[in-house]
Amino acid sequence: MADHLSYQPPGDGRPLVLRARVVLPAAKPPIEDGAILVFRDRIVVVAAWKDIPGELKSGTAKIIDLGDAILMPGLVNAHCHLDYTGMAGLWPPPKKFTEWIPRMLAAKAEWSYSDYARSWIQGAKMLERSGTTTVADIEAAPELLPDVWDSTALRVVSFLELTGIRSKRDPKEILGEAIDKIDSLAHPRCSASLSPHAPYSTSPELLRLCAQIGREKNLRFVAHVAESEQEFEMFAHARGEMFDWLKRNGRDNSDCGLGSPFQHVERAGLSGENFIAIHANYLDEADFGLIAGKKLSVVHCPRSHEYFNHQPFPLERLLAAHVNVCLGTDSLATVTKHDKEELELNLFQDMQLFARKNPAVQPQTILKMVTINGALAFGMKGKIGDLTVGAFADLIAIPFTGKTSDAAEAVVHFPGHVRASMIGGRWIVGDDVKGP
Ligand SMILES: [Zn+2]
Repeated sequence: MADHLSYQPPGDGRPLVLRARVVLPAAKPPIEDGAILVFRDRIVVVAAWKDIPGELKSGTAKIIDLGDAILMPGLVNAHCHLDYTGMAGLWPPPKKFTEWIPRMLAAKAEWSYSDYARSWIQGAKMLERSGTTTVADIEAAPELLPDVWDSTALRVVSFLELTGIRSKRDPKEILGEAIDKIDSLAHPRCSASLSPHAPYSTSPELLRLCAQIGREKNLRFVAHVAESEQEFEMFAHARGEMFDWLKRNGRDNSDCGLGSPFQHVERAGLSGENFIAIHANYLDEADFGLIAGKKLSVVHCPRSHEYFNHQPFPLERLLAAHVNVCLGTDSLATVTKHDKEELELNLFQDMQLFARKNPAVQPQTILKMVTINGALAFGMKGKIGDLTVGAFADLIAIPFTGKTSDAAEAVVHFPGHVRASMIGGRWIVGDDVKGP
């Protein structure tokens, strides 16, 4: 039986039927010889080809048969820094996280507006060709918005990066400026929100104000939490290289020694479904209960995790606690460059590394981490990340000649340059499939 909205003959524009060897929703079983009906920017029907109404097949709709392909939801990249794309491969993996931060800060200080803009646009192009259709991006240079949004077809949620430790600016002023920026932006496809950068680079007051404004305005937040061992040591034990380095640089540090980084952000009021924690590599026993109990989403970035040689990501425990785990590419500044390899923002590569490090995890679970889990984290469930009636027509197609039961596995191991990609009913990749 076809899964569909009550179908209305179009008043303008023709509906489009996409047929493929396998249609692979994120939350339901694959459909062999499946089809999707797209009308304007939405998915209207998800069904087996044989269940598509005859009137559509015989002329009412435009039909595109993708043939030997998997048709699936576009990927949701849950963490990225598009504006650092041009820093790809600049530094080999550091021995410690605290070696990397000053390098990064020095590079950022030398970059101009046009460096950031060029880098952002280059990164967005990489994501478009490798199947991402929605990206949660951290924006270090908010003056790029909204111009860069218009340069891409991607759905972008830009989280404005907030720090304030080195600048010693008043948290109220930092936040006021960010909120003014967010309020000035209106875009049909993209939106902006807040990212207090990390516990170590922000004051507790900034975190507290973010949490307060977030509740008032019902905003989603992201922050990097418990990324490195040194960050954990700083907050849990008020010691270590990060603690000392920040103290030398004028951070008050009286908020350290009171518990783990997760307990620190929770104390400031950053919790609940609106809060998405990036990394979560170093957790103490109480953190698992806190993350699950407060319904936080966690984003794991496999290639970035490998670059810093962090301890194993606590995946099993998070999944056992039913935490919503998503995958992200992070920036190319934290991906190891091997020989002459061209680094690319490509979520398929992160899936493959993740699958290698976590061989017991089913491909279908990995597929959810790059689709519906991201949609849930960013408050867009039912709109993106799945092939479901009423969702945006954000779709990708990859070549596939195998058995339907092997489709999810094939997705995880796909190299990454998709055959076709559509966002909101508009083709962005795939000139050969879209036809006249
Ligand atoms: Zn990041």
